Amino acid sequence: MSGSSVRIGVLALQGDFALHGRALARSGVDAVLVRKPEALEDVAGLIIPGGESTTLLRLMGEWEFVPAIEKFHAAGKPIFGTCAGLIVLAREVENPRQFSLGLIDVTVERNAYGRQRESFQAPGAAVLDGRRVPVTMVFIRAPRIRRLGAGVEPLAEHGGETVMARQGSVLVATFHPELTEDTTVHRYFCDLVRRAPAVA
Ligand code: GLN
Repeated sequence: MSGSSVRIGVLALQGDFALHGRALARSGVDAVLVRKPEALEDVAGLIIPGGESTTLLRLMGEWEFVPAIEKFHAAGKPIFGTCAGLIVLAREVENPRQFSLGLIDVTVERNAYGRQRESFQAPGAAVLDGRRVPVTMVFIRAPRIRRLGAGVEPLAEHGGETVMARQGSVLVATFHPELTEDTTVHRYFCDLVRRAPAVA
């Protein structure tokens, strides 16, 4: 490991934060479980995991995470939201409408795959830093991105729809990269964190 090991936080209020922590460790960075807003001061990037967005929002409110995450974002520090984490970061949420942080200009529809396909695994492809790479995607009661704003870059697709996207320092995915052994997506986020001006 080089001397420039970076610390990345995983919001550990609810959902599958532990597996994100393991995926970060496998990607060669220090993973920190973030349970209080003050802990954000010690990390250079943050993952908001999947889970249940309404529960996540309630706990974020109780622990006063909303202003802390807004400040984190304003400082240019990268944030990666997966599934419920994406829902929390989106500009607009449908089915039903609910509060969100609005840090990436997308509209998402919650639970947008019918009952038959509530949870499934599928091969997909991402284009990361100009390279096309295969990614196995696990969808669990996943949202669908219904609108991408002009400043949002699509990074991966499944079935002709964007399932991973980025706007500046904010990365989102509708699927769960932490549920496979493949660390491609986590390593991409770690690189974003390393390259972020806030780290320099
Ligand atoms: N269905 C959940 C929600 O709407 C998200 C599911 C997930 O994070 N795996 O919040």
